[in-house]
Amino acid sequence: MAVEHFDVVIMGAGLSGIDAAHHLQKLCPKKTYTIIEQRERIGGTWDLFRYPGIRSDSDMLTMGYSFRPWTNPKAISPGDLIRDYITAVARDEGIDRNIRFRHRIKRAAWSSQETQWTVDVVRTLPDGRDEPVTLTCNFLFSCAGYYRYSGGYTPEFPGIERFQGRIVHPQAWPEDLDYAGKRVVVIGSGATAVTLLPAMARTAGHVTMLQRSPTYIVSLPEQDKIANWLRGVLPAMWAYKLSRWKNVALMVYVYQLAQRFPNFVKTGIVKKVGEALGPDYDVATHFTPRYKPWEQRLCLVPDADLFQAIKSGRASVVTDRIEAFTEKGIQLESGKELEADIVVTATGLVMQAFGGTELSVDGRSVDPGQTLAYKGVMMSGVPNLASVFGYINASWTLKADLICIYVCRLLKYMDRKGVRQVTPQAGNETAAAPFVENFTPGYIERALASWPKQGSKAPWRVYQNYIRDTISLRWSPVENDALEFSNPPKASPEAAPREFAEAAK
Ligand SMILES: Cc1cc2nc3c(=O)[nH]c(=O)nc-3n(C[C@H](O)[C@H](O)[C@H](O)COP(=O)(O)OP(=O)(O)OC[C@H]3O[C@@H](n4cnc5c(N)ncnc54)[C@H](O)[C@@H]3O)c2cc1C
Repeated sequence: MAVEHFDVVIMGAGLSGIDAAHHLQKLCPKKTYTIIEQRERIGGTWDLFRYPGIRSDSDMLTMGYSFRPWTNPKAISPGDLIRDYITAVARDEGIDRNIRFRHRIKRAAWSSQETQWTVDVVRTLPDGRDEPVTLTCNFLFSCAGYYRYSGGYTPEFPGIERFQGRIVHPQAWPEDLDYAGKRVVVIGSGATAVTLLPAMARTAGHVTMLQRSPTYIVSLPEQDKIANWLRGVLPAMWAYKLSRWKNVALMVYVYQLAQRFPNFVKTGIVKKVGEALGPDYDVATHFTPRYKPWEQRLCLVPDADLFQAIKSGRASVVTDRIEAFTEKGIQLESGKELEADIVVTATGLVMQAFGGTELSVDGRSVDPGQTLAYKGVMMSGVPNLASVFGYINASWTLKADLICIYVCRLLKYMDRKGVRQVTPQAGNETAAAPFVENFTPGYIERALASWPKQGSKAPWRVYQNYIRDTISLRWSPVENDALEFSNPPKASPEAAPREFAEAAK
């Protein structure tokens, strides 16, 4: 069978993949592309996660696309509305016609001789059988998110097999789970746990959030009054842009404040929690983290719903460590036992780069952990490949938009100059920091060894700063000493980048 060729193959039809397709259609309309999506639907994260209360924990005015106003009055939005928004963009722009569902990219091999990627895909047929499909492309754009889809992270809990109740991971929420009137324990203290607690407490008998240590929790109004007012008096796009910039400015301000005056910000956040829960509540034990604000993602809760659930008595927080599971529940190190009918392990994700794709360049396999990240978008020594990794301290889409624009600028530049291959070359730059710095949730720390590293200076730094990235990705010239543009006549082992030469030893 003839192998199909595209200018660009996009991996993933989530928030970023649809963003990438929009920008390609708009800025590089002559480029052919296809989106390869392993699942059956658009939306990625916002289709996969189905646990009660699933919602954004950043505001949709910055998490929406720059080019499509978010018009729902809810700024902190339920997951299904986000999925509908992404799907509507794909439908309205005809992007959905270019998606191949139930296709998973397994391997991608770059050949300098051919100046193209050969992409090995597994297609799942309606009867469940797998069939191999091969594509080629000039540029591979990974929009595969940052975690493994096949299963979340569950630590090894001693005695878990003894537990007689049901154990559920939020990444694989069972449709049939009936928790009305039941005793539920949610293990974890991150965004998922604080979402689940009030949502399940509405009908469960009682919900306990069992955490090893507290997280910073900030309550924000579910509706952004200024954005909703602006929408009433201005055209939708103007209102959206103004609200977006308002929130970007606020976010940059709060983040910088937290970096410079962590104790001041910490005191402010903890005081607000105390006000919400009342003077008798033990805020010091349950809501006063040991780390500085933003060393781990700050959790937003809409309209203080978490605190209201706790005050109502339908939910509670226990700060303790698990000794072992028992038949009836969980034995804690303090000696207490938490009885439960259902235990939800909101214990995180397994991070995964490039959707688990095995990459190789001219026959040598790529270990992303041995490369440096160029502008947080490409990898040293790997030609014609970009990927989206959004912000950890702000909405993912802010960075996804910038990366998509940057990739289109790069492709247009290459067309103008008549070059087919672009490779970031690290030269003397060496690894100086992990891909994500000063951010220590377990699931990130567990994975950083296998992610590209940061160097000591630009363009090898990965910023968590929208303003700096706007300058770097949108306004700076594409041409850069660290980028090698070429039309290689044929692959030569001598020309192989340092990382791969070492990896091959
Ligand atoms: C529960 C949860 C809540 C979150 N809340 C927020 C929030 O409030 N704000 C925020 O900014 N961020 C949030 N995030 C981060 C979130 O992942 C981003 O908002 C955004 O959804 C990422 O979009 P994406 O398209 O890059 O990745 P994903 O949404 O993960 O989509 C990736 C797509 O690629 C597909 N794919 C992966 N590997 C392959 C392969 N090998 N072959 C083919 N297809 C493949 C997947 O099936 C999926 O459809 C949250 C994440 C989670 C898990």
